[in-house]
Amino acid sequence: MEHNGLLVVISGPAGAGKGTVVGELIKDDNVEVSISATTRAPRGTEKDGVEYHFLTREQFQQMIKQDGFLEYAEYVGNYYGSPKKQAELWMAQGKDVILEIEVQGCKKIKENNPECISIFIMPPSMEVLEHRLRKRATDSEESILKRLSRAREEISLARDYDYIIVNDGLSECIADVKTVLKAEKLRADRFDVSEMLS
Ligand code: 5GP
Repeated sequence: MEHNGLLVVISGPAGAGKGTVVGELIKDDNVEVSISATTRAPRGTEKDGVEYHFLTREQFQQMIKQDGFLEYAEYVGNYYGSPKKQAELWMAQGKDVILEIEVQGCKKIKENNPECISIFIMPPSMEVLEHRLRKRATDSEESILKRLSRAREEISLARDYDYIIVNDGLSECIADVKTVLKAEKLRADRFDVSEMLS
């Protein structure tokens, strides 16, 4: 596994800023973000193969049968899954692969890929999270309240992650994530001593 890239799970409640963090990380040529498959309908300007691979339930179930996912989960009535083939190919090429997924998916990834690194992006407080959601959302009050309640559930599971990084300022948050990835790469168990001595 020494030359493989890292498998990195990034989770966090809506409004924590994880999408922006991931957007910054993938500016590095050595970092790729996995495009998930989902059975939910495209929203707004979303395009197939860009934000998601949009599948029917039948296509999704077929992919489950063919062992095509690293993990999948049902979330608010739809399936979401991380395609296995592309992620494994990137890792074999030495690239770091980011999965931006919710908490159940992270749990499954950890069971099957114990070497993965999991990072939870935490908002500085519930007040700030609520403010961010209200500022950006075109959503109804009901939807904002749903997201806030979901955020509480997710935050209650944050201690299951390897790292919690508070997003109190984007540049510092991104720097912290990069520090984690750098340190993980320097772990002794990733060093091929036999290659050194040959
Ligand atoms: P949305 O429908 O808002 O794009 O995504 C809903 C939730 O599903 C988000 O928390 C997102 O991180 C999560 N998600 C997206 N792709 C995957 C995936 O492949 N697997 C899992 N488990 N969750 C995903």
